[in-house]
Amino acid sequence: MAEEKKKVVALLSGGLDSQLAVKMMQKQGFEVSAVAIKTPFCDFDCGRGCGFEIREKADDLNVNLKTVYLGDEYIEMLKHPKHGIGAGFNPCVDCRTMMFDAAKKHMEEIGAEFIISGEVLGQRPMSQHAPSLHIIEKESNLTGKIVRPLSAGLLPPTDAEKNGLIKRENLGMIKGRQRKIQMQMAKEYGIENPPNAGGGCLLTEPQFGVKAKDLFDHIETPTINEIDLLKIGRHFRLDEETKFVIGRNKDENEMIKALALPGDILLEAKDYVGPISILRGKNAKEHLKFASSVTLRYSDAPNNEQAIVSIRDSDLVEEIASESAEEESYIKFRM
Ligand code: SF4
Repeated sequence: MAEEKKKVVALLSGGLDSQLAVKMMQKQGFEVSAVAIKTPFCDFDCGRGCGFEIREKADDLNVNLKTVYLGDEYIEMLKHPKHGIGAGFNPCVDCRTMMFDAAKKHMEEIGAEFIISGEVLGQRPMSQHAPSLHIIEKESNLTGKIVRPLSAGLLPPTDAEKNGLIKRENLGMIKGRQRKIQMQMAKEYGIENPPNAGGGCLLTEPQFGVKAKDLFDHIETPTINEIDLLKIGRHFRLDEETKFVIGRNKDENEMIKALALPGDILLEAKDYVGPISILRGKNAKEHLKFASSVTLRYSDAPNNEQAIVSIRDSDLVEEIASESAEEESYIKFRM
């Protein structure tokens, strides 16, 4: 009778490195089961298609896929990430810890031996240098249980290695940001169109980081609706309690309408093509005149002429006449 394969759990991001990690373990005779993590900042529905791709990647790799959503607990963590944030608003060490926690649960459920990930030593500034890898293991109670196949030849031996489940000579010694070796491996493993490095996490994008920080500075516990609003439009902080967001295209205008809640005020140029904008916050009404003129500014309404702005506040619709704002009057509020 054929011996049953030992199981491992892979944290699958859809990127090349995690695919290679899976391939390396499969080559060594393990049955790999993948876990993909969704957060409010990577909900797979952002239009970049990564959710779909992850499913496809899992199929290509011939692994089962379990998707885990980290919602409220992720937002809670982001309020005070224990290990700080990176150059954007990215709490990478705490984020990875949560991801490994989820993978650990799956590992226990299916009786897997250990967890693998595509992390490469020194590839990312915050979460992939040796001390961070160690902290992440410790915080998720997984010391000795995480194998990073691409770099494991350069890292201390894990339990799997000590117990003879894997051998050092089969582990990679990749370090740093260069991807030459990975591209070569992709070729050898027949991975077609290997994806580009990085990308995908909104929290690492500087401009998004500014908006996210502003939100967390002003709201105790942001909701998913507030986070979704961060992903679209031009954002303006008008006062401590009030924000103003202007759609940049038709899709964003539709999304703004869909995200509007009772109490929000929607504005739109009545007779010209232009954006939908939204005023949100306690003092929204005090900013109506200003918001109308900025809404006109981003519309086709001619400068220096009065035009009508439709204002929808719950079920009430009113119209006010306004003039396009001068750039210097609003640019200081832009985030
Ligand atoms: S880049 Fe984003 S998803 Fe990746 S660890 Fe950092 S915060 Fe988490």
